[in-house]
Amino acid sequence: MRLVLVGPPGAGKGTQAQFIASNLSIPKISTGDIFRANVSGGTELGRIAKEYMDRGDLVPDEVTIAMVRDRLSESDAQDGFLLDGFPRNVPQAEILKKMLSEFGAALDVVLELVVDDEEVVRRLAGRRTCGQCGRIWHVDFDDKKDDVCDVCGGRLYQREDDSEETVRHRLEVYQEQTAPLVSFYADENLLVGVDATGPVEEITQRAMEALRPFAD
Ligand SMILES: [Zn+2]
Repeated sequence: MRLVLVGPPGAGKGTQAQFIASNLSIPKISTGDIFRANVSGGTELGRIAKEYMDRGDLVPDEVTIAMVRDRLSESDAQDGFLLDGFPRNVPQAEILKKMLSEFGAALDVVLELVVDDEEVVRRLAGRRTCGQCGRIWHVDFDDKKDDVCDVCGGRLYQREDDSEETVRHRLEVYQEQTAPLVSFYADENLLVGVDATGPVEEITQRAMEALRPFAD
């Protein structure tokens, strides 16, 4: 199965990507993993990407696309894959479609993890990090009433990334980029949405049921 996974920050996309890919016996291909593999492997693309990253700049689209192309050409991806983090926008989706058709293939399905904005804010803005051991606690899920780490006694704080303001901003950026992508795939009749609230195993189960009609 050739599958793209999309979902907002805080939807548990990384975890679900891993479980779904392993259930379907297909490789999980995330842009983060591809970047790291190219950089640590010292490839030409990795060298170029690293120059941008070292300067704190975004890696240009064409470098990302070339890395994705290389990865999708590898033997383990010939019978299917789960893409996580690519495509990010409609132009990239068009390029992916063209790339796959050159390989004589096409996407089977795009799975969207659907989580309410307020639920995302609750999940992410409720996180507290221990300044001493780095453990992450949650004010609701761990019923954390004080700001002391139960493991090491360290002081808990809220990371800048987890502040409500930052989380809401990330959600806005996500909506801006992804809403057109989601409607692109809806128009292509590839989009399936899954409720991504509740226990992790239940979400995986729901996803597997939603994907069953698309299995070979
Ligand atoms: Zn601690």
